[in-house]
Amino acid sequence: ARSNKTVRDYIRTIPDFPHEGIMFRDVTTLFADPRGFRIAIDQLLHPYAGTDIDRIVGLEARGFILGGAIAHQLSVGFVPIRKKGKLPGKTLSQDYTLEYGEATMEIHDDAIQPGEKVLVVDDLLATGGTAEAGIKLLEKLGAEIVGCAFVIDLPDLGGRAKLEAMGVDIHALCA
Ligand code: 5GP
Repeated sequence: ARSNKTVRDYIRTIPDFPHEGIMFRDVTTLFADPRGFRIAIDQLLHPYAGTDIDRIVGLEARGFILGGAIAHQLSVGFVPIRKKGKLPGKTLSQDYTLEYGEATMEIHDDAIQPGEKVLVVDDLLATGGTAEAGIKLLEKLGAEIVGCAFVIDLPDLGGRAKLEAMGVDIHALCA
């Protein structure tokens, strides 16, 4: 049967996860659906058709699922930015602020060469703290950031404004 469902139709909202008062956007239902996953990947890539991209950078953890599919589609390599302590090689670290407390993201210090054009991918943009940490790491390595692509942007939380103030181009599929 045909389906006219859009990306947002495949995403469900789970109240009070991971704690009370949070409306968690659950993308596992998008990833699990063959059409949902495919249109999400197609739409994430759509603005970058014909654009020179050397590498896809995925933010842990759902950015790995999306970024892996996008890297394969473009026939380019994939680079992970991970939470502290997960990458085995020599890393650069960047601290960032969470709702409660601090966290650290890391990248292998030899993962990107200066001047490489990278597209950053994650599932959701909220306060922008995670993506900002990732962008700072990429800038330290001399990457040229082509853009940041997200399935969901929650603009009320300020992430888009924060990243745009850094001069980063944002692409999101739904709010
Ligand atoms: P930020 O750093 O922009 O405040 O939060 C974004 C990061 O937290 C992303 O890596 C994203 O995966 C995760 N995140 C925060 N809230 C949600 C949510 O409601 N749903 C999903 N799927 N991820 C979330």
